[in-house]
Amino acid sequence: MRIGAHVSISRGFPSVFDEIKSIGGNCAQIFSHSPRSWRFKDPQNVEEFRERYKKEDIKPIVIHNSYLVNLASMDEELHKKSMENTIKEFETAKSLGIDYVNIHPGSNRDPKIGLRRIIDSLNRIETDVYLLLENTASKIGSKFEDLEYIIENIEIETGITLDTCHAYAAGYDIVNDLDGVIGRIDESIGLKKLKLIHLNDSKFDLGSKRDRHEHIGMGKIGVDGFRKIINHPELRKIPKILETPVDQRRGFKENIEFVKRLIE
Ligand code: MN
Ligand code: MN
Ligand code: ZN
Repeated sequence: MRIGAHVSISRGFPSVFDEIKSIGGNCAQIFSHSPRSWRFKDPQNVEEFRERYKKEDIKPIVIHNSYLVNLASMDEELHKKSMENTIKEFETAKSLGIDYVNIHPGSNRDPKIGLRRIIDSLNRIETDVYLLLENTASKIGSKFEDLEYIIENIEIETGITLDTCHAYAAGYDIVNDLDGVIGRIDESIGLKKLKLIHLNDSKFDLGSKRDRHEHIGMGKIGVDGFRKIINHPELRKIPKILETPVDQRRGFKENIEFVKRLIE
């Protein structure tokens, strides 16, 4: 099974391999720069990263975009910065040889206008790096149909990331009706396009629309919920990235060990 976590590159891009090994993972997600800043540095140690990526059995590696980005925004300044930032993410991924750029669709008071703005924005981007649209707990992207609509209307190659916490908070009952939810993804987007799972438990209830991650098995999805998710035949082969808290109860290492023990 491919399981990893969102790790820091504060010691440089190539350090992701040591970070991931130290927690027992074999795939990873990173921010290419501080996710709460617009500042972008040109990536360093690109060659070293590419060399190690070829050699190491740590795949895939995914770039997650910045929290500040909103491609659906009506604010021209914010939208312009969001476009520039998104283009940079793709350029960085391309130079490092990274497989995917994962983005949150965005938000707008009028979801219809928001969807249109996201589509127009993404159609101004040229790249051969694969885009992943992440489902959200509320707003645009909380329905699989939103993601389907974007994918149908843009040119670049695009799939989805299924965040288990976001899906549950958005009202998809992956605990009692996992087959049903997987069926709905297949009917709308198509399971072939599901490339990544963000494996997070949820602090809040089904349909709460609240995005608060919890340690695997300690939240509302629970141990049995994750046992089913991890062992589901359609989900087994999809890489899983933890975005769980790091606190006195557990870190990523303990959550990865916990998940591995659920494999049947
Ligand atoms: Mn995310
Ligand atoms: Mn996520
Ligand atoms: Zn979240």
